[in-house]
Amino acid sequence: MRDQFDYVIIGSGAGGAPIAYEKARDKKSVLVLEKGPLLLTQDERHEGSLSDFKRDEMFNAGTERIINIPGMANSGQPFFTSHIEPDLNDEPHIFSDLAGNGPRVTIEGYTAQVVGGGTQLYGGVSLRFSENDFRLKSFNDDRQIALKNDPDRDALRHVIDWPFGYAKLKKYYEKAEYLIGINGTSEGQVKAKKNGFSDPDQYQKPRNPNPISEFARKGMENCGFATYRTPLAVITEDHLPSNRKAGDPHVGYVNRYGDPLGYKSNTWVTLLRPTIREGFDLELRPNSTVTYLESRGREIVAVHYRDESGRARRVTGKKIIVACSAIESVRLMMLSAEHDRLGFGKAIRFEEDGSHLGRYFLTHAFGGAEVAIKNYRFDKSISLDSDFATDACAQQEFLDANGLWAGGAIYNNTSDQCLPITLARTDGSTDLDTFWAGFSGAMEKRGDGLIRWLNEDFGTRLSVSFMANQVPRYENRIELHATPDKWGRRSAHVIKDWHPHDGAVMGTLAGVCEDILLKGVPGATRNDISEGSVYGNAVRVANHILGGMRFGESEDVSVLDPSCRVWGFDNLFVTDGSFMPTSGGGNPTLTIQANAFRVADLI
Ligand SMILES: Cc1cc2nc3c(=O)[nH]c(=O)nc-3n(C[C@H](O)[C@H](O)[C@H](O)COP(=O)(O)OP(=O)(O)OC[C@H]3O[C@@H](n4cnc5c(N)ncnc54)[C@H](O)[C@@H]3O)c2cc1C
Repeated sequence: MRDQFDYVIIGSGAGGAPIAYEKARDKKSVLVLEKGPLLLTQDERHEGSLSDFKRDEMFNAGTERIINIPGMANSGQPFFTSHIEPDLNDEPHIFSDLAGNGPRVTIEGYTAQVVGGGTQLYGGVSLRFSENDFRLKSFNDDRQIALKNDPDRDALRHVIDWPFGYAKLKKYYEKAEYLIGINGTSEGQVKAKKNGFSDPDQYQKPRNPNPISEFARKGMENCGFATYRTPLAVITEDHLPSNRKAGDPHVGYVNRYGDPLGYKSNTWVTLLRPTIREGFDLELRPNSTVTYLESRGREIVAVHYRDESGRARRVTGKKIIVACSAIESVRLMMLSAEHDRLGFGKAIRFEEDGSHLGRYFLTHAFGGAEVAIKNYRFDKSISLDSDFATDACAQQEFLDANGLWAGGAIYNNTSDQCLPITLARTDGSTDLDTFWAGFSGAMEKRGDGLIRWLNEDFGTRLSVSFMANQVPRYENRIELHATPDKWGRRSAHVIKDWHPHDGAVMGTLAGVCEDILLKGVPGATRNDISEGSVYGNAVRVANHILGGMRFGESEDVSVLDPSCRVWGFDNLFVTDGSFMPTSGGGNPTLTIQANAFRVADLI
């Protein structure tokens, strides 16, 4: 088996695949090592066969699983597992908050372990960040306003600007949007005003919105907010760069599930598959888990991994790109440092006082509001999710008026409960581990009560959500925990909490979401609407795993230089979500992809 490449890329998701695409097309030899399996779409399998995703969902019934790791706060409790996340007893993520609650085992912080990574399961909301998202330190230095819940402006203590601004990333946003295949509209986006979209923009035409979303649009407009069709990574027209034909994507198959048909623009169907099919020198090795990196001086000289049979293997690359998603990438660095404390460990400043490795771990501040539209039931499967969005809460007037350091995007959702089983599973859950929490043990949801509950709730609920910047804190971090995974390697320990100012951001934006529903849904009163956020529930991470190895202008403040190279090494780069110094006022994946295209130009 070949063991020498120009580029070895670890992880095939948003941060890894764009580099593989660019470098293979640049006539370099590229190897992608991916821990998860390759799940084929229906048309890639023989005629009449189900896609691997569909097969996997159908055959994934098993006995209930129980956490059996000693010393954990939730040992003995059942857990939810999906088909492409690890078994928690084999490979736990361990979570504690800053108040000392925990440690507990959690599935939070795993995106998807499969070729394509998180882009296989994601909702596809593909927002660009706003100009201020790249410069939150200087933006706040310039305005000097009092921050809510934060009289000493403590929230700004650890904020740094990105090493470049929106204008630098604009052409890479355009490249990502074109190559990936996104539908939506740019008119009404705050980014369209200055340094805006190319004309005509690259978006495909959105599908007709779900009638239920019109209430959300009306609410946004009645609040005085400009709206746009949410950019979604799903093709609605034939897509030339990935050679895909448009079809009829249904929401149940796109949002939060693996898409069996390949309409969702994940990195397998958009970037890796076309590059392999066109004959470039790109080799993909699925079911290959990288265990550690070996260095000599400033060079990574070998990548060690286990193949699908568990056999230890090694490969070499002139340049090594780590893109395992933030928590697992930090863990891989720390495990490599433990392997060679004096070499790799010293070079990456593992366990050195003041080291930034694993620090400023971020997710998003998120939440929203929800209402049942009385006397209506909509077929939520007739359209894509997230029809309308607004950037009103990313604007300076809004931030000044509300005493906030940063804002975010708001969009509506329709598909969370497009299947009764999803409604039951997610009702009352406070994190990914407590699915079914509001259902099991609820006596009023049995017998006739179940029918009544389904009648009132299924297909009637409309939600409006926000996604906003979380305050970066040195204390929020990834460490190694003594608990071993199935290969005997230490697990990732996520230690995290919210800043009080996060509470102000989330409370304010949840209030705006409530107002949108109040002003958009005829007859709705505040009593009908439930609103809230994840403030106080530190373990929830919105599936957005960011920070931990932020980039910056100097080694004093960051782990990576502006080209995403690890300070201390010449040929080691990190391009998954861990490079972000702030989490941005919108879902992060388009920005991770755009940045990876930028890095590909530099290395
Ligand atoms: C249900 C869900 C909904 C989401 N919705 C949205 C959305 O609407 N919009 C949005 O912007 N984002 C969304 N996200 C988040 C999005 O998926 C992530 O932001 C994005 O995928 C992160 O990119 P990444 O490169 O950091 O990691 P990933 O894309 O997750 O890629 C990491 C890859 O590395 C592999 N890997 C890990 N460890 C190893 C190892 N040791 N060896 C080899 N390979 C390894 C993993 O298997 C994985 O394939 C969603 C996520 C989920 C799960």
